[in-house]
Amino acid sequence: MTSDRRVVIIGSGPAGLTAALYAARANLKPLLIEGLEAGGQLMLTTMVENWPGYRDGIMGPDLMAEMRAQALRFGTEVIEGNVTAVDLGQRPLTIAIDAAGRITTDALIIATGASARWLEIGSDRKLSGHGVSTCATCDGYFFRGKPIAVIGGGDSAMEEAIYLTKFASKVTVVHRRDTLRASKIMQDKAIANPKIDFVWDSEVAEIKDVGRGEVTGIVVRNVKTGQLRELPLDGVFIAIGHTPNTALVKGQLELDGNGYIVTHHGTRTSVPGVFAAGDVQDHVYRQAVTAAGSGCMAAIDAERYLEGMPEHAETVGAPRSVEVRSPQ
Ligand code: NAP
Repeated sequence: MTSDRRVVIIGSGPAGLTAALYAARANLKPLLIEGLEAGGQLMLTTMVENWPGYRDGIMGPDLMAEMRAQALRFGTEVIEGNVTAVDLGQRPLTIAIDAAGRITTDALIIATGASARWLEIGSDRKLSGHGVSTCATCDGYFFRGKPIAVIGGGDSAMEEAIYLTKFASKVTVVHRRDTLRASKIMQDKAIANPKIDFVWDSEVAEIKDVGRGEVTGIVVRNVKTGQLRELPLDGVFIAIGHTPNTALVKGQLELDGNGYIVTHHGTRTSVPGVFAAGDVQDHVYRQAVTAAGSGCMAAIDAERYLEGMPEHAETVGAPRSVEVRSPQ
């Protein structure tokens, strides 16, 4: 049975768009399905100063627009839709798309990313990129000489708190219990750091701002006594974990204990012909540039896989029900 496509990519962050760029330049005419959060996490960031090649930085959404245009230029077709189901148990692989129905493909690259968890107190999401951040590496530099808070008690929170002491005048870790979840070594480092102090047994009740997106402090509630206390500060980093976007493939691909896709020998997953790139398979580096690198690897791995397939079935192009965008 011939497939509709040789390669389909799910996800449009740096991993998905780089995979698309490489697959398009390998003449595989990739189809990329953008997903609900088109552009991924960088769409929530303001200035990106650690993407190589932009000495003055580039705004996150502008960087994603450039990556998208570059992938389109070489023949990537994009569907502004969301994948609702995949069947990786039979050949060809099958994908159901809300905007376009069902399509089949020989190879699939999953680049659905991970979503930072939010406190879900309203103000945290509203002030994202304006005093509230989920990425110390991205935004720490903006808080030079200023007091800030890090929320969370795991390895990410300790890592971010320690990193942020390079910039901030003081880092207050707010944790909802009286013991940290972080590994002993990370705990010891954070506790020994003179610029870090801890507010225990407390959750953030409110983030205060002056209406121009300028954070002025947080109100913390002691979970044991219910007492409220205001801490004046200029920035809030939320580090309460990430959730990999793997609901689609749960039960079909090998996942690790935290729900991330397990990859072997580059970007190969437990199912031949299915590759994973970016944050959906990486909870260690989680940078745009490393995601893009793994997207490149996934396209090369997919190309090699397709070259080795027993028969090179000609694809029949996009199914009629699929609305595709022409390269710009
Ligand atoms: P994590 O280990 O799940 O820790 C999340 C922290 O956030 C916990 O302390 C949790 O509190 C707190 N939290 C969760 N939801 C919250 C909420 N709604 N409000 C307030 N606090 C909340 O996540 P992570 O720190 O991102 O680490 C994920 C994995 O990556 C771990 O396996 C970790 O070891 C690994 N990692 C390793 C390194 C490293 O080795 N350098 C660095 C980063 C991450 P409770 O403790 O009360 O549950």
